[in-house]
Amino acid sequence: MADKERVGFIGLGRMGTGMAGSLLRAGHEVTVYNRTPGKAQELVDRGAHKARQVADACRGDVVITMLADDAAVEGVVFGDGGVLQSLGKAKTHVSMSTISVALSERLAAAHAQAGQRFVAAPVFGRPDAAAAGKLFIIAAGAPDVVALCMPLFEAMGQKTIPIGDAPQAANLIKLSGNFLIASVIEALAEAMALVGKAGIDRRQYLDLLTATLFTAPVYKTYGGLIAGGKFEPAGFAVPLGHKDIRLTLAAAESLRVPMPLASLLHDRFLTLIARGGEELDWSAIGRLAANDAGLEDLLR
Ligand code: NAP
Repeated sequence: MADKERVGFIGLGRMGTGMAGSLLRAGHEVTVYNRTPGKAQELVDRGAHKARQVADACRGDVVITMLADDAAVEGVVFGDGGVLQSLGKAKTHVSMSTISVALSERLAAAHAQAGQRFVAAPVFGRPDAAAAGKLFIIAAGAPDVVALCMPLFEAMGQKTIPIGDAPQAANLIKLSGNFLIASVIEALAEAMALVGKAGIDRRQYLDLLTATLFTAPVYKTYGGLIAGGKFEPAGFAVPLGHKDIRLTLAAAESLRVPMPLASLLHDRFLTLIARGGEELDWSAIGRLAANDAGLEDLLR
Protein backbone atom coordinates (compact mmCIF):
# COMPACT_ATOMS: atom_id res chain seq x y z
CA MET A 1 0.00 0.00 0.00
CA ALA A 2 1.21 3.49 -0.78
CA ASP A 3 1.08 6.31 1.78
CA LYS A 4 -2.00 7.76 0.08
CA GLU A 5 -4.72 5.13 -0.03
CA ARG A 6 -7.82 4.40 -2.03
CA VAL A 7 -10.18 3.82 0.84
CA GLY A 8 -13.90 3.20 1.18
CA PHE A 9 -15.78 4.65 4.14
CA ILE A 10 -19.19 3.27 5.17
CA GLY A 11 -21.28 5.07 7.80
CA LEU A 12 -21.51 8.86 7.73
CA GLY A 13 -23.08 9.54 11.12
CA ARG A 14 -21.82 11.96 13.77
CA MET A 15 -18.46 10.19 13.91
CA GLY A 16 -18.03 8.84 10.39
CA THR A 17 -18.53 12.20 8.67
CA GLY A 18 -15.65 13.73 10.64
CA MET A 19 -13.42 10.68 10.20
CA ALA A 20 -13.94 10.50 6.44
CA GLY A 21 -13.29 14.26 6.32
CA SER A 22 -9.97 13.72 8.14
CA LEU A 23 -8.96 11.12 5.54
CA LEU A 24 -9.75 13.57 2.74
CA ARG A 25 -7.78 16.33 4.48
CA ALA A 26 -4.76 14.02 4.62
CA GLY A 27 -4.96 13.49 0.84
CA HIS A 28 -6.41 9.97 0.67
CA GLU A 29 -8.80 9.06 -2.13
CA VAL A 30 -12.04 8.35 -0.29
CA THR A 31 -15.24 6.72 -1.57
CA VAL A 32 -18.12 7.22 0.87
CA TYR A 33 -21.33 5.26 1.38
CA ASN A 34 -24.23 5.95 3.72
CA ARG A 35 -27.64 4.28 4.01
CA THR A 36 -29.27 7.72 3.89
CA PRO A 37 -27.50 9.02 0.77
CA GLY A 38 -28.01 12.76 1.39
CA LYS A 39 -25.48 12.72 4.24
CA ALA A 40 -22.68 12.04 1.73
CA GLN A 41 -23.09 15.37 -0.07
CA GLU A 42 -20.93 17.46 2.28
CA LEU A 43 -18.01 15.06 1.76
CA VAL A 44 -18.58 14.84 -2.00
CA ASP A 45 -18.37 18.64 -2.10
CA ARG A 46 -14.97 18.26 -0.42
CA GLY A 47 -13.71 15.78 -3.03
CA ALA A 48 -14.99 12.35 -1.96
CA HIS A 49 -16.43 9.90 -4.50
CA LYS A 50 -20.00 8.84 -3.78
CA ALA A 51 -20.76 5.10 -3.68
CA ARG A 52 -24.32 4.21 -4.66
CA GLN A 53 -24.08 0.86 -2.92
CA VAL A 54 -21.88 -0.84 -0.35
CA ALA A 55 -19.97 -2.76 -3.06
CA ASP A 56 -18.79 0.52 -4.67
CA ALA A 57 -17.02 1.42 -1.42
CA CYS A 58 -15.16 -1.92 -1.40
CA ARG A 59 -12.98 -1.47 -4.49
CA GLY A 60 -9.87 -0.01 -2.80
CA ASP A 61 -7.28 -1.65 -0.55
CA VAL A 62 -9.20 -0.83 2.61
CA VAL A 63 -12.84 -0.36 3.57
CA ILE A 64 -13.67 1.25 6.90
CA THR A 65 -17.02 0.78 8.65
CA MET A 66 -18.26 3.25 11.30
CA LEU A 67 -21.86 2.19 11.95
CA ALA A 68 -24.26 2.45 14.85
CA ASP A 69 -24.36 -1.07 16.27
CA ASP A 70 -24.10 -4.83 15.72
CA ALA A 71 -27.25 -5.00 13.57
CA ALA A 72 -25.98 -2.27 11.24
CA VAL A 73 -22.55 -3.90 10.86
CA GLU A 74 -24.10 -7.35 10.30
CA GLY A 75 -26.37 -5.97 7.57
CA VAL A 76 -23.58 -4.09 5.79
CA VAL A 77 -21.01 -6.89 6.00
CA PHE A 78 -23.02 -10.11 5.69
CA GLY A 79 -25.96 -8.82 3.61
CA ASP A 80 -26.42 -9.35 -0.14
CA GLY A 81 -23.81 -7.28 -1.99
CA GLY A 82 -22.21 -6.56 1.39
CA VAL A 83 -18.56 -6.09 2.36
CA LEU A 84 -17.84 -9.82 2.62
CA GLN A 85 -19.05 -10.50 -0.92
CA SER A 86 -17.55 -7.34 -2.43
CA LEU A 87 -14.07 -6.92 -0.94
CA GLY A 88 -11.20 -8.42 -2.94
CA LYS A 89 -8.87 -11.13 -1.65
CA ALA A 90 -6.08 -9.84 0.65
CA LYS A 91 -7.94 -6.51 1.02
CA THR A 92 -8.73 -5.16 4.48
CA HIS A 93 -11.90 -4.37 6.42
CA VAL A 94 -11.24 -1.99 9.33
CA SER A 95 -14.17 -2.04 11.76
CA MET A 96 -14.19 1.12 13.89
CA SER A 97 -17.73 0.93 15.32
CA THR A 98 -18.27 0.02 18.96
CA ILE A 99 -19.62 -3.52 18.54
CA SER A 100 -19.83 -6.70 20.59
CA VAL A 101 -16.91 -8.97 21.29
CA ALA A 102 -18.90 -11.84 19.77
CA LEU A 103 -19.50 -10.00 16.46
CA SER A 104 -15.85 -9.00 16.23
CA GLU A 105 -14.86 -12.68 16.55
CA ARG A 106 -17.41 -13.59 13.88
CA LEU A 107 -16.12 -10.91 11.51
CA ALA A 108 -12.50 -12.02 11.97
CA ALA A 109 -13.43 -15.63 11.17
CA ALA A 110 -15.59 -14.75 8.14
CA HIS A 111 -12.97 -12.46 6.58
CA ALA A 112 -10.22 -15.05 7.15
CA GLN A 113 -12.41 -17.68 5.47
CA ALA A 114 -12.88 -15.33 2.47
CA GLY A 115 -9.13 -14.66 2.19
CA GLN A 116 -9.58 -11.06 3.37
CA ARG A 117 -7.86 -9.20 6.23
CA PHE A 118 -9.63 -7.78 9.29
CA VAL A 119 -8.65 -5.16 11.86
CA ALA A 120 -10.78 -3.97 14.78
CA ALA A 121 -10.01 -0.32 15.54
CA PRO A 122 -12.65 1.22 17.84
CA VAL A 123 -12.10 4.80 18.97
CA PHE A 124 -12.26 7.08 21.99
CA GLY A 125 -13.30 10.70 21.39
CA ARG A 126 -16.52 12.51 20.48
CA PRO A 127 -17.61 13.96 17.10
CA ASP A 128 -15.52 17.14 17.58
CA ALA A 129 -12.39 14.97 18.00
CA ALA A 130 -13.41 12.91 14.96
CA ALA A 131 -13.71 16.06 12.81
CA ALA A 132 -10.35 17.36 14.05
CA GLY A 133 -8.49 14.06 13.46
CA LYS A 134 -7.85 13.80 17.22
CA LEU A 135 -9.33 10.41 18.09
CA PHE A 136 -7.58 7.76 20.16
CA ILE A 137 -7.61 4.50 18.19
CA ILE A 138 -7.27 1.03 19.75
CA ALA A 139 -6.15 -1.28 16.94
CA ALA A 140 -5.95 -5.08 16.95
CA GLY A 141 -5.26 -7.50 14.14
CA ALA A 142 -2.31 -9.05 12.32
CA PRO A 143 0.64 -6.67 12.99
CA ASP A 144 1.53 -6.33 9.29
CA VAL A 145 -2.04 -5.28 8.44
CA VAL A 146 -2.24 -2.84 11.37
CA ALA A 147 1.08 -1.36 10.19
CA LEU A 148 -0.31 -0.93 6.66
CA CYS A 149 -3.34 0.90 8.06
CA MET A 150 -1.23 3.33 10.10
CA PRO A 151 -1.35 6.21 7.55
CA LEU A 152 -5.16 6.06 7.78
CA PHE A 153 -5.13 5.93 11.57
CA GLU A 154 -2.68 8.84 11.69
CA ALA A 155 -5.10 10.91 9.61
CA MET A 156 -8.04 10.17 11.92
CA GLY A 157 -6.37 10.05 15.32
CA GLN A 158 -3.89 11.81 17.58
CA LYS A 159 -2.70 8.44 18.89
CA THR A 160 -3.07 4.81 17.81
CA ILE A 161 -2.44 2.05 20.33
CA PRO A 162 -1.88 -1.41 18.78
CA ILE A 163 -2.85 -4.04 21.34
CA GLY A 164 -2.11 -7.37 19.70
CA ASP A 165 -3.47 -9.64 17.03
CA ALA A 166 -6.84 -10.67 18.48
CA PRO A 167 -9.36 -8.13 17.08
CA GLN A 168 -11.98 -8.79 19.78
CA ALA A 169 -9.54 -7.54 22.47
CA ALA A 170 -9.81 -4.03 21.03
CA ASN A 171 -13.61 -4.22 21.23
CA LEU A 172 -13.53 -5.42 24.85
CA ILE A 173 -11.13 -2.60 25.82
CA LYS A 174 -13.39 -0.05 24.09
CA LEU A 175 -16.49 -1.36 25.89
CA SER A 176 -14.70 -1.35 29.24
CA GLY A 177 -13.66 2.25 28.61
CA ASN A 178 -17.23 3.33 27.88
CA PHE A 179 -18.36 1.54 31.04
CA LEU A 180 -15.83 3.67 32.95
CA ILE A 181 -17.03 6.89 31.28
CA ALA A 182 -20.67 6.06 32.08
CA SER A 183 -19.65 5.37 35.69
CA VAL A 184 -18.02 8.80 35.88
CA ILE A 185 -21.16 10.38 34.39
CA GLU A 186 -23.32 8.71 37.05
CA ALA A 187 -20.95 9.73 39.87
CA LEU A 188 -20.71 13.33 38.63
CA ALA A 189 -24.51 13.48 38.21
CA GLU A 190 -25.10 12.42 41.82
CA ALA A 191 -22.39 14.76 43.17
CA MET A 192 -23.75 17.72 41.15
CA ALA A 193 -27.29 17.03 42.39
CA LEU A 194 -25.94 17.00 45.95
CA VAL A 195 -24.04 20.28 45.82
CA GLY A 196 -26.67 21.88 43.56
CA LYS A 197 -29.44 21.19 46.03
CA ALA A 198 -27.34 22.80 48.77
CA GLY A 199 -27.21 25.96 46.64
CA ILE A 200 -23.55 25.65 45.67
CA ASP A 201 -22.69 26.91 42.19
CA ARG A 202 -22.09 23.81 40.09
CA ARG A 203 -19.67 25.45 37.64
CA GLN A 204 -17.51 26.71 40.49
CA TYR A 205 -17.70 23.25 42.01
CA LEU A 206 -16.54 21.69 38.72
CA ASP A 207 -13.68 24.21 38.40
CA LEU A 208 -12.56 23.21 41.88
CA LEU A 209 -12.72 19.50 41.08
CA THR A 210 -10.87 19.75 37.77
CA ALA A 211 -8.15 22.02 39.22
CA THR A 212 -7.35 19.57 42.02
CA LEU A 213 -7.78 15.79 42.06
CA PHE A 214 -10.02 15.32 39.00
CA THR A 215 -7.97 16.71 36.13
CA ALA A 216 -8.75 14.06 33.48
CA PRO A 217 -10.55 15.16 30.29
CA VAL A 218 -13.50 12.92 31.10
CA TYR A 219 -14.33 14.97 34.22
CA LYS A 220 -13.95 18.25 32.33
CA THR A 221 -16.08 17.18 29.36
CA TYR A 222 -18.91 15.46 31.20
CA GLY A 223 -18.80 17.71 34.26
CA GLY A 224 -19.27 20.67 31.91
CA LEU A 225 -22.22 19.06 30.14
CA ILE A 226 -23.93 18.11 33.41
CA ALA A 227 -23.28 21.50 35.07
CA GLY A 228 -24.67 23.26 31.99
CA GLY A 229 -27.70 20.95 31.82
CA LYS A 230 -27.53 21.06 28.02
CA PHE A 231 -27.98 17.58 26.63
CA GLU A 232 -29.01 18.44 23.07
CA PRO A 233 -27.80 18.08 20.40
CA ALA A 234 -26.30 14.74 21.41
CA GLY A 235 -22.62 14.10 20.77
CA PHE A 236 -23.11 10.50 21.89
CA ALA A 237 -26.79 9.62 22.03
CA VAL A 238 -28.53 7.74 24.87
CA PRO A 239 -29.34 4.60 22.77
CA LEU A 240 -25.63 4.21 21.94
CA GLY A 241 -24.70 4.46 25.65
CA HIS A 242 -27.39 1.90 26.44
CA LYS A 243 -26.02 -0.37 23.70
CA ASP A 244 -22.46 -0.16 25.05
CA ILE A 245 -23.47 -1.07 28.60
CA ARG A 246 -25.59 -3.93 27.22
CA LEU A 247 -22.56 -5.21 25.25
CA THR A 248 -20.32 -4.80 28.31
CA LEU A 249 -22.75 -6.91 30.34
CA ALA A 250 -22.89 -9.54 27.56
CA ALA A 251 -19.09 -9.82 27.58
CA ALA A 252 -19.12 -9.93 31.39
CA GLU A 253 -21.73 -12.68 31.34
CA SER A 254 -19.73 -14.87 29.00
CA LEU A 255 -16.53 -14.31 31.01
CA ARG A 256 -18.42 -14.86 34.32
CA VAL A 257 -17.59 -11.39 35.69
CA PRO A 258 -20.22 -9.75 37.91
CA MET A 259 -20.46 -5.99 37.21
CA PRO A 260 -23.12 -4.58 39.54
CA LEU A 261 -22.35 -0.98 38.56
CA ALA A 262 -22.90 -1.83 34.88
CA SER A 263 -26.31 -3.30 35.78
CA LEU A 264 -27.25 -0.02 37.49
CA LEU A 265 -26.11 2.00 34.47
CA HIS A 266 -28.11 -0.25 32.16
CA ASP A 267 -31.26 0.72 34.08
CA ARG A 268 -30.33 4.43 34.09
CA PHE A 269 -30.11 4.46 30.28
CA LEU A 270 -33.30 2.41 30.01
CA THR A 271 -35.07 5.01 32.20
CA LEU A 272 -33.91 7.80 29.87
CA ILE A 273 -35.20 5.88 26.85
CA ALA A 274 -38.51 5.04 28.59
CA ARG A 275 -39.02 8.75 29.32
CA GLY A 276 -38.51 9.77 25.68
CA GLY A 277 -34.85 10.80 25.97
CA GLU A 278 -33.55 8.93 22.89
CA GLU A 279 -32.30 12.12 21.25
CA LEU A 280 -30.37 13.30 24.32
CA ASP A 281 -26.65 12.98 24.98
CA TRP A 282 -25.77 10.13 27.38
CA SER A 283 -24.66 12.71 29.96
CA ALA A 284 -28.44 13.31 30.43
CA ILE A 285 -28.07 10.89 33.32
CA GLY A 286 -27.31 14.23 35.02
CA ARG A 287 -30.96 15.18 34.45
CA LEU A 288 -32.15 11.94 36.06
CA ALA A 289 -30.06 12.54 39.19
CA ALA A 290 -31.35 16.13 39.36
CA ASN A 291 -34.94 14.93 38.90
CA ASP A 292 -34.45 12.36 41.68
CA ALA A 293 -33.32 15.22 43.93
CA GLY A 294 -36.31 17.41 43.01
CA LEU A 295 -34.07 19.81 41.09
CA GLU A 296 -35.29 19.40 37.53
CA ASP A 297 -36.12 23.09 37.14
CA LEU A 298 -32.42 23.85 37.21
CA LEU A 299 -31.91 21.84 34.06
CA ARG A 300 -34.63 23.15 31.77
P1 NAP B 1 -24.80 7.93 14.48
O1 NAP B 1 -24.58 9.38 14.33
O2 NAP B 1 -26.09 7.43 15.03
O3 NAP B 1 -24.55 7.25 13.04
C1 NAP B 1 -24.84 5.89 12.83
C2 NAP B 1 -24.46 5.49 11.41
O4 NAP B 1 -24.83 4.11 11.23
C3 NAP B 1 -25.19 6.28 10.32
O5 NAP B 1 -24.34 6.37 9.19
C4 NAP B 1 -26.40 5.37 10.02
O6 NAP B 1 -26.92 5.56 8.73
C5 NAP B 1 -25.71 4.02 10.10
N1 NAP B 1 -26.68 2.93 10.32
C6 NAP B 1 -27.44 2.72 11.41
N2 NAP B 1 -28.19 1.60 11.25
C7 NAP B 1 -27.88 1.12 10.02
C8 NAP B 1 -28.28 -0.02 9.28
N3 NAP B 1 -29.17 -0.90 9.79
N4 NAP B 1 -27.75 -0.21 8.05
C9 NAP B 1 -26.86 0.66 7.53
N5 NAP B 1 -26.41 1.75 8.18
C10 NAP B 1 -26.91 1.98 9.42
O7 NAP B 1 -23.68 7.23 15.38
P2 NAP B 1 -22.21 7.79 15.74
O8 NAP B 1 -22.30 8.66 16.94
O9 NAP B 1 -21.54 8.25 14.49
O10 NAP B 1 -21.52 6.40 16.22
C11 NAP B 1 -21.06 5.43 15.30
C12 NAP B 1 -20.31 4.35 16.08
O11 NAP B 1 -19.21 4.95 16.77
C13 NAP B 1 -21.18 3.65 17.15
O12 NAP B 1 -20.80 2.30 17.22
C14 NAP B 1 -20.79 4.40 18.41
O13 NAP B 1 -20.99 3.59 19.57
C15 NAP B 1 -19.31 4.68 18.16
N6 NAP B 1 -18.75 5.85 18.86
C16 NAP B 1 -19.44 7.02 18.95
C17 NAP B 1 -18.87 8.10 19.63
C18 NAP B 1 -19.62 9.42 19.77
O14 NAP B 1 -19.22 10.24 20.62
N7 NAP B 1 -20.65 9.68 19.01
C19 NAP B 1 -17.59 7.99 20.17
C20 NAP B 1 -16.88 6.80 20.02
C21 NAP B 1 -17.47 5.72 19.36
P3 NAP B 1 -28.13 6.62 8.48
O15 NAP B 1 -27.46 7.96 8.32
O16 NAP B 1 -28.78 6.12 7.25
O17 NAP B 1 -29.02 6.56 9.70
